[in-house]
Amino acid sequence: MKVASLFPEKHVLSFEVFPPKPDVPISKIYETLDALKSLHPDFISVTYGAGGSVPGASTAEICAYIQDQLQIPAIAHLPCINESKESVLEKMRDFRARGIENILALRGDRNPSVQPKNDFSFASDLIRFIKQNGDFDIAAACYPEGHPEAPDLDTDILHLKEKTDAGATHLITQLFYSNKDFYTFREKIAAAGVSVPVEAGIMPVTSKKSIERMVSLCGASIPKRLAKLMARYSDDPASLKAAGLEYAIEQILDLREQGADGIHLYTMNNPDVARYITEAIAE
Ligand code: FAD
Repeated sequence: MKVASLFPEKHVLSFEVFPPKPDVPISKIYETLDALKSLHPDFISVTYGAGGSVPGASTAEICAYIQDQLQIPAIAHLPCINESKESVLEKMRDFRARGIENILALRGDRNPSVQPKNDFSFASDLIRFIKQNGDFDIAAACYPEGHPEAPDLDTDILHLKEKTDAGATHLITQLFYSNKDFYTFREKIAAAGVSVPVEAGIMPVTSKKSIERMVSLCGASIPKRLAKLMARYSDDPASLKAAGLEYAIEQILDLREQGADGIHLYTMNNPDVARYITEAIAE
């Protein structure tokens, strides 16, 4: 199923998972996915080498498990800076053979130990290439606070428009903690002519360490209220987690009330966190 068809019908709720590290058996992610199944997400996306890490278990293999065993549509993330045109074609053939119809087309994070290939410079190049060479539904990433390498948000939005012009039919945002940033972004992209559905990417704060790492990787800012919570509970991990989950729930309920097309929950492969939030926001 092509996931773009979901949006006009409902408030979409999707999950993101990542493949286990190479030293962890693949059965681990299957256990996680089995636990996520009963939460009935509209689709599950699977990252590929996120954070510049070397890809472990196959993203395609995990997507196939999600579709065949859980009967839930899957999106395979596909970063392109380290790929050649031939290797992308090979991946597209593999996706097709496994019944995967949805790709999140990305440029990818740079990995200092891998020399980038020169076939694709930006995600828009990949989107164009996939469109020309296959029949996939293509999603793309977007950044409510601007991509960290972009000189400013307006320039980043011009490049985002190139991605939807090239054929991306739905966008998923980078994590953010201030809904105001999302609303401003939504107005700006609409004014720039970007009209595809935008899912809001939500990553609950569950520990100080994990959030500091994520924020330093993606450049998201921490609003005062969240910074205060983090300071108040800096020596109390259980209370910080509880407050972080409540913060995420409030964010999601407000986003829904304000008509966000969908919520994309970065589950961090933690089904308990996904369950807690999904049950709290049930419509
Ligand atoms: P692009 O859209 O190509 O943009 C990258 C930068 O180039 C931006 O600053 C943009 O403004 C600029 N740019 C774009 N086009 C042009 C142009 N024509 N001329 C000049 N500048 C231009 N990474 C992974 O490795 N694996 C994953 O699985 C993964 N999943 C992700 C999922 C989501 C929802 C998000 C938001 C990000 C994900 N990432 C993943 C991270 C992503 O790969 C990085 O943020 C990467 O740095 C940019 O990818 P992009 O597709 O947004 O790039």
